[in-house]
Amino acid sequence: MSDEITTTVDTPEQAEFRAEVQAFLAANAELRKPVSRWTTLTHTDAASAQAWFDRTRAWQRTRFDHRMAGLTYPVELGGRGGTAWHERIFNEEAVRYDVSSGFVSATIAMLGPTLMKHATPDQQAHYVPRLLSGEYAFCQLFSEPGAGSDLAGLACRAVRDGDEFVVTGQKVWNSAAQFCDWGMLLVRTDPEAPKHRGITFILVDMASPGIEVRPLVQANGASEFNEVFLHEVRVPVANVIGEIDGGWVPARTVLSNEAAFIGGGSTAAGSKSANLIELARIHGRTGDPVVRQELADAVIRERIIGAMGERIMAAVRRREVPPIDPAALKLFACESRVRTGNLAVAIAGPAGLVGGDEVANWVQTEVVGRYTISIGGGTNEVQKNNLAERALGLPREPRNDHEIPWRDVPRN
Ligand SMILES: Cc1cc2nc3c(=O)[nH]c(=O)nc-3n(C[C@H](O)[C@H](O)[C@H](O)COP(=O)(O)OP(=O)(O)OC[C@H]3O[C@@H](n4cnc5c(N)ncnc54)[C@H](O)[C@@H]3O)c2cc1C
Repeated sequence: MSDEITTTVDTPEQAEFRAEVQAFLAANAELRKPVSRWTTLTHTDAASAQAWFDRTRAWQRTRFDHRMAGLTYPVELGGRGGTAWHERIFNEEAVRYDVSSGFVSATIAMLGPTLMKHATPDQQAHYVPRLLSGEYAFCQLFSEPGAGSDLAGLACRAVRDGDEFVVTGQKVWNSAAQFCDWGMLLVRTDPEAPKHRGITFILVDMASPGIEVRPLVQANGASEFNEVFLHEVRVPVANVIGEIDGGWVPARTVLSNEAAFIGGGSTAAGSKSANLIELARIHGRTGDPVVRQELADAVIRERIIGAMGERIMAAVRRREVPPIDPAALKLFACESRVRTGNLAVAIAGPAGLVGGDEVANWVQTEVVGRYTISIGGGTNEVQKNNLAERALGLPREPRNDHEIPWRDVPRN
């Protein structure tokens, strides 16, 4: 079967592609320099965050220009028309090089399948090549101060005026919005309809008059996300993806792919279990039977997440329904991340929490960051609700706001 995910020996076709990837990387990328295993990727000043974003976006452009981006997307949309193994081989080879598509790869993972499923052919022809090349970098403008877990309760209002919608409202927690030139925006177009049925999914040019992006500064000094204010922003009706008032459908496609990306990507930054083992060596804890048991568990979890992620992403790239609900992967990866942070502290003890060296810095980053993926892309509780209803077929949570007009739903 030409679409196998895991093969030990390349077929002639795969070997030919691998050689092409090797030649592309050798000509366009630098080999990864040996860096400390304790390095953490946090940009605490705006200039270095911007430089990193620009660098990752430029790499995506280089891939696109050499027909190495969107490997599973149709050729006529700028992709390569390949299958899951093309992605696998590319990733296997690229891992030795100092390259990343950073945030742009997250939006390709979220928005790409959504455009392929819900956009018109004209919209696909315009947006997909620009998405794959990084020419358009999209942020996600979903959450609002009063609509996070209850996303369908969102209040950002869009009123139709001829061929345009006029949008006024506020979004929050929008990752990388300060660097992006486009946004995937959810707006309320029919306040009289029940909350899930009056939402529209629309693409907005972030340079439009009336948009203000305010970075939020975190405790560590970084600004990974933003508040976005929209005041009478004019957006062409032609930018609607899917049906007007039917935006909940493409929004769910984005959210499902986001869960898959976050869950599958949680091991992409490198092996945390390898660091935990080294940490145990440094602190003389490798003989402790409880620590040994936890280390083995960390290794096993990492392997499980990798295998689940590969199976889900292979299906997503084939534009098929994943064999595992992405919510299950995200939940498992989130709980694993929390256990990794806790284990790092259990091994390093107070020295890990108060020390100023790079090893202690890694421990502190793991501890402080252990809950981020448990919230972004839908909290663990929301994923559990999704799994209960979608995968296990359990009764839905009792709700009293699904059939009444959105404007009558109490809000704070
Ligand atoms: C790192 C990160 C990146 C993000 N990036 C983006 C982005 O790019 N774009 C964007 O639009 N948003 C983004 N978000 C926002 C994210 O989607 C929301 O924070 C998330 O959906 C939770 O919403 P909330 O913060 O309003 O919490 P709330 O919804 O207020 O939840 C508070 C608590 O109540 C629990 N809860 C709520 N409802 C239920 C329920 N029905 N059953 C059980 N428990 C419940 C939640 O699980 C949580 O513990 C990001 C968040 C993070 C942390």
